[in-house]
Amino acid sequence: MTFDGKKLAEQTKALLRERMEQYKTQYGRVPCLSVLLVGDDYGSQRYVASCEKQTAEVGMACQVIRMDGQSTETEVLEQLDRLNRDTNVDGILVQMPLPKQVRTEKVVDAISPAKDVDCVTDTNVANLWKQKRNDYTRFPVPCTPRSAMRILEAADIPLDGAKAVVVGRSNIVGLPVSKLLMNENATVTVAHSHTKNLPDLLRSADVIVAALGKAYFITADMVSEGAVIVDVGINSDPQTGKMCGDVDFANVAPKCRMITPVPGGVGPLTICSLMENVEGCFLRAQTR
Ligand code: NDP
Repeated sequence: MTFDGKKLAEQTKALLRERMEQYKTQYGRVPCLSVLLVGDDYGSQRYVASCEKQTAEVGMACQVIRMDGQSTETEVLEQLDRLNRDTNVDGILVQMPLPKQVRTEKVVDAISPAKDVDCVTDTNVANLWKQKRNDYTRFPVPCTPRSAMRILEAADIPLDGAKAVVVGRSNIVGLPVSKLLMNENATVTVAHSHTKNLPDLLRSADVIVAALGKAYFITADMVSEGAVIVDVGINSDPQTGKMCGDVDFANVAPKCRMITPVPGGVGPLTICSLMENVEGCFLRAQTR
């Protein structure tokens, strides 16, 4: 089965749209995402434009604060402080990369954990690692890992006791998705660039999450019949320049019980997960 991420994203957005209407009645306002964009990085601009479009589609508030690429660290921190204190702002996304004169760590440390919709603050990273069972209502969870889990759940993939291999150990994808899988009682191995015999390891897996960022790296001979694959990679095809994943989809898909395509798999769900994180921050703020 090729998983249709776009369809699940549309269903998720329809539900979000309904809930936004309820919040208007119940709380007199809808959740609000604030995006801090410093400079003119092309990828960031595209992502932020998508955030604006998709929040508008579901009726969530979104404000983008665009700061000049020459802004100083102090100016960025002042802006962040203003957003932290603004009670009408529920979630704050600081778009990375930041210009070199602004230290990422300083900025991340300054985000209020209660508004940290990307789960980058130490508090929320610790929350994630301390939690023994997945509960997505208590604090924000990193958006791409959350989207991968959402797909596995929607496709009804049994994780309890499953052998999962996550390829990649980054703080934003590989590590958090490994913890979310472990919380569902999968037995998880995290592979990386120093892993020996990766093909053997992959062939032993029931579930593979590919998050290494190498076009078509996982080939059909590395995958067992009936495997489940979530391909998080976003790469460009060296020949055509078109977007592609970490998995050689055309040859691997026939062997799989379920596989996500690129594009159209995990990607469409990322901003849905972001919006749900904003919603979570909003709801927790109502009860504080
Ligand atoms: P990073 O570059 O931070 O991490 C890549 C990881 O892959 C590292 O842990 C690295 O190992 C490992 N790796 C690299 N080469 C190999 C190899 N040959 N064998 C085994 N492991 C290897 O990437 P990210 O985690 O940020 O992103 C991963 C991919 O996911 C990228 O394509 C990115 O574009 C995509 N992405 C997609 C998102 C979405 O919403 N769909 C969101 C975020 C990212 P080591 O630690 O040893 O260097």
